Amino acid sequence: PEPAAAQDKRVAIEARNIVKQFGEGPSALRALDNVSIAIRENEFFTLLGPSGCGKTTLLRLIAGFEYPTEGAILLDGADIAGLPPFKRPINTVFQSYALFPHLTVSENIAFGLQMLGRPKGEIAGRVAEMLKLVHMDEMAHRRTDQISGGQAQRVALARALAPAPKVLLLDEPLSALDYKLRKEMQIELKRLQHETGITFVFVTHDQEEALTMSDRIAVMSKGKVRQVGSPWDIYDKPAERFVADFIGETNFLTAAVTGLSNGVAHVTLKSGAQIVATVAEGFQPKAEATIVVRPEHARAVPQGGQLSGTVENVVYFGTDTHIHVRLAEDGLFTVRQQNSRAQSCGFAVGDRVGIEIAADAAQVLRD
Ligand code: ATP
Repeated sequence: PEPAAAQDKRVAIEARNIVKQFGEGPSALRALDNVSIAIRENEFFTLLGPSGCGKTTLLRLIAGFEYPTEGAILLDGADIAGLPPFKRPINTVFQSYALFPHLTVSENIAFGLQMLGRPKGEIAGRVAEMLKLVHMDEMAHRRTDQISGGQAQRVALARALAPAPKVLLLDEPLSALDYKLRKEMQIELKRLQHETGITFVFVTHDQEEALTMSDRIAVMSKGKVRQVGSPWDIYDKPAERFVADFIGETNFLTAAVTGLSNGVAHVTLKSGAQIVATVAEGFQPKAEATIVVRPEHARAVPQGGQLSGTVENVVYFGTDTHIHVRLAEDGLFTVRQQNSRAQSCGFAVGDRVGIEIAADAAQVLRD
């Protein structure tokens, strides 16, 4: 859960009832359909969703490269519709880095400051500071067509951070890097955000990246924000099927809702077992609902449990084992169990097993 202090933080950027339509008439496309989000100061905020959901469009609206069809972008509470991109205290790091290849690392970092007409002495000092921040001091005089992808990424970050923007927009900045470098840069970005105190708005379609880096995440699909919350909220308390499905692995079960009070539901599974589940925000009472249970919140047992079935597959992953169970009731259910050094999971294909769902592990979805 979010600490109370975080909830008191001031809002840096707000998108209010944003609609963005491309084109006119029957071929018109609604890239953003009534999107409202409030991004707080000093927050690492991530827009997460599949390709085409509108992440980049929202980023471009904040930067000022596009204008909303309806709604407003507010910075520190004021509508910035009248501010062209270069007058907004907002910078963008693009996936392609967009460095000037014929300039050195230092010259690239200095570029924005020169455009702003800052004094020479100040620029030199700031460039030195940025070089240190991104650990590129030793490469200061290297041309940027002679550095690696990871180094180019650092230079692009330094260049964007140099004028000390209030907000830094990052559009899939790590997607061109190989896996190991990407993992390194994730930690590096988090450090940079923490050290500079600048609000980061980060775009990715990679759920793992979003979970590991963000203070809060907005999950988007088809031009709408489906849920906003901490990584913990999004993973553990998904509100909708789309969110639960997009983030990590999960099991869906149909259940009859027999009682509802104070955010808690009493539900009856198809097996007849009765369990208590938390209820997603915005849930409208109905007789039958979908509940989700993460695989690591259930375990296979030789007897008992709320569900029963037959082991269809056992997959060993080193740290844990995934057991796929064909339920007697219906469908396939995955259980993920920590491995111990002493013994294997103890189940084999064809075994009849029960599934025990941990207390508080089930969540009722709103749709
Ligand atoms: P990706 O991860 O693939 O970049 P995204 O979530 O960033 O996807 P957007 O680039 O915001 O998605 O695109 C949202 C929708 O708007 C897509 O259907 C896209 O084709 C459309 N779109 C974006 N820009 C334009 C434009 N200038 N003209 C017409 N349609 C556009």
